[in-house]
Amino acid sequence: MGVPLNGSASLRKMRRAMDAPRHSDSRPEWLGLTRTELAEHLVRQGIPGGHALRLFGHLHRRLEAPDACTAMSPRQRERFLETTAPTHCETTEVHPTDDGTEKLVFTLRDARRVEGVIIPEGPRSTFCVSSQVGCAMACAFCATARLGLERALTPGEVLAQIYAARVRCEAVGRPLRNVVFMGMGEPLHHYEVTRRVLDILTDPTGFCLGAPRLTVSTVGLAPRIAQLGRDFEGRIQLAVSLNAGTEATRRALMPITERHGLADLRAAIAAYPYPRNRYVLIEYVLLGGLTDTPAELQALAGFVRGLPAMVNLIPWNPFEGAPADLHPPAPEAIDAAFAALRAMGVPVKVRLPRGRRAVAACGQLARITPTAEVA
Ligand code: SF4
Repeated sequence: MGVPLNGSASLRKMRRAMDAPRHSDSRPEWLGLTRTELAEHLVRQGIPGGHALRLFGHLHRRLEAPDACTAMSPRQRERFLETTAPTHCETTEVHPTDDGTEKLVFTLRDARRVEGVIIPEGPRSTFCVSSQVGCAMACAFCATARLGLERALTPGEVLAQIYAARVRCEAVGRPLRNVVFMGMGEPLHHYEVTRRVLDILTDPTGFCLGAPRLTVSTVGLAPRIAQLGRDFEGRIQLAVSLNAGTEATRRALMPITERHGLADLRAAIAAYPYPRNRYVLIEYVLLGGLTDTPAELQALAGFVRGLPAMVNLIPWNPFEGAPADLHPPAPEAIDAAFAALRAMGVPVKVRLPRGRRAVAACGQLARITPTAEVA
């Protein structure tokens, strides 16, 4: 099979995008401040830092505006509002599907849009959140890649998506229990944004989402995997989007491989400080005739051997404008890949496609309006 992507050109494009300046606002968004930063900010404004605990609870546990914090005087609240910025992230479209998933489209203050997906799982829900507008990583099989990187999201914009999903999930009696950073963007690219969001989500006085309920999925930025491991002592669930067993095929599909090869990536995964009984999720998109071949699967088995890993096979979800030489796997190839990996002793499961009708399935998030009715 021909190489589906010009690796060098894509890598150059990706490098330019990775050097792009971060979005900034002169006033900090109140939603994006950790509890410690909130206290520091209050003190700088002449407001007792002790109010931070109550204020943080209003913002992140009760999802209220700063006005609700009556522990602060009206003058203090006014000062706080003058010196911080609100987050603009409005849910402007909701696309439900018959398999229960729901794609949410969020419009930001600069009219850019990102998407997230609510996935019901029994009595609970998982939310797949976007970490960037577009993405710089240029993975050939992914619709988001076609947008390029438009900008990083602010921590407040990431949190606002999660909180909007939380409200919807609670309204239908399926509370939000898991958040996966698998929407648009590479969450370890603008690492500081993701770190701050994880800090805020896991704060026991806020939403208090347990770290194991948070999954960060990466194309394999090896140094940032190490940093995530250090910062959260391995408590955050790590998922690595591997998608090929051999270096050549991965390089053709994922330009990042030129910068961080499979050996680097494997070393970073091996060094991640997992607690006992935890594993890294190895996401593996099955592409017909390309990544579902015996050679690739054998190389995949070699890659994961000795790692605390679970392989998640994801039959590729096609999208309009995808490279012509990419094809979904035949149904029998999915079964065969599963059986082959099992036979080689690899822990493996298959992720059933969900949300295709709303163009919300894995790798399809690219602001493509589904033909289904808009709620
Ligand atoms: S698969 Fe993830 S990292 Fe790769 S282009 Fe798509 S959104 Fe970016």
